[in-house]
Amino acid sequence: MKRAKVIAGNWKLNHTVAQSVALVSALRAELDEALGGSSANGTEVVVAPVATALHAVCAALEGSSIGLSAQNTYSEDSGAFTGELSPALLRDVGCRYCIVGHSERRQLFGETDAGVNAKVKALLATGLVPIICVGETLDEREVGRTLDVVLPQVRAALEGIDPAAWGPEGSRLLLAYEPIWAIGTGKTAEPHDAQEVHAAIRADLAQRTTGPLAQGARILYGGSVKPVNAAELLDQSDIDGALVGGASLTAESFVPIVQAAL
Ligand code: PEP
Repeated sequence: MKRAKVIAGNWKLNHTVAQSVALVSALRAELDEALGGSSANGTEVVVAPVATALHAVCAALEGSSIGLSAQNTYSEDSGAFTGELSPALLRDVGCRYCIVGHSERRQLFGETDAGVNAKVKALLATGLVPIICVGETLDEREVGRTLDVVLPQVRAALEGIDPAAWGPEGSRLLLAYEPIWAIGTGKTAEPHDAQEVHAAIRADLAQRTTGPLAQGARILYGGSVKPVNAAELLDQSDIDGALVGGASLTAESFVPIVQAAL
């Protein structure tokens, strides 16, 4: 099955509102025509600014096919949850996607598999597309436990969700395989090593689900994706896009990564 690629930029805790709007304007100047024109190949481009910039970035994206993502959500829509944001509020501010289970949230903020699952359910119920992150540590990889860690993370995130929730072709299921040792370190998984993990995730999905979900799901790779390594990674048969951290912070480095998918 031909799957449209997704290139998502996770800006993390970077950029003021003005800097975020300027970055979006630069991205639009370089990408709007290629993404929306008659030669467009369906590639989805997504940016995930800090929460305080979502409103302004949404306005700056008016008329563009670049999608807006949040970096995190809470699983309840409203109530006594000081400091949290809900899927309903993220939708209200123009988000179509939301990253969940990023390793920084798992490691620094105590995000659990059960919490990720609750957030995924809440996002789907609100009509947002979760970008579900999974990945192993260096120690886990070195003792050969990558799949023992990653496959249960995927299964837990999808637990109890009706396959129909992922759309008729499964294309609303976005997973991001991000080996933790490759995030922000400059170390990238070798394309064939990443491909092996992506293929294993897809095979596990195929075993556990029926219908088109396993073939339709998009599995992004994340971990020091840069202009220099994007094409080779995106060329792998089960790598359907990239979740990009550091290199998404400037148009100069993000645009060539998108172009590698076009
Ligand atoms: C990320 O944080 O999702 C990420 C992949 O970061 P970087 O590209 O900087 O490694």
